[in-house]
Amino acid sequence: MPWSVAWTAEQAFRVQPSTDFPGLLELDQRHAPGEGEPNFAAVHVSRQRRGMIDHLCHICGTPTAVGDRWVFPVASGGLVTMTDGQVGWGCNVPPVHGACAEIARRECPHLSHLVEAPLQCGDDEGRLIHRTDVTPGLEAIAAQMPAGQAVVFSCYRLYRPAFTARVEQARADWERAARARRG
Ligand SMILES: [Zn+2]
Repeated sequence: MPWSVAWTAEQAFRVQPSTDFPGLLELDQRHAPGEGEPNFAAVHVSRQRRGMIDHLCHICGTPTAVGDRWVFPVASGGLVTMTDGQVGWGCNVPPVHGACAEIARRECPHLSHLVEAPLQCGDDEGRLIHRTDVTPGLEAIAAQMPAGQAVVFSCYRLYRPAFTARVEQARADWERAARARRG
């Protein structure tokens, strides 16, 4: 069971001062992994940020070191056009260990359907960016929050052109392979 998945017993939220982003508020989710049923469609809000900030593996929840830090470039993230016109790959899914990536490829229905190879991260750790817009699926929670205050929901990492180019290459290779499989 992926570490970042939210469980039914964790459906309680509060707004608190952020220690990761001093001066801002953050949405904090109850922490009770393993209680109730896992909801694969929902990522745990607090674990998502913890994973992105500390480079924790989203499968096992322990730190990934440079050299054993992987991402799935087709299944996750998207291209972001920056103010200077440059395009960077932004990813809001925490990385995975090489061994955990293999488990995910076998056992995650979405990934096994995609037939996607993981891509190893280089020395570009990505720039951490927080988001205060409402994460899809949390609209009802957001509606109960005091108005007029910026609250950090999630964060992502934005990569420089070199790693972005590797992601785009991996996506192009995957497209070609998928077309070949379809015949
Ligand atoms: Zn792991």
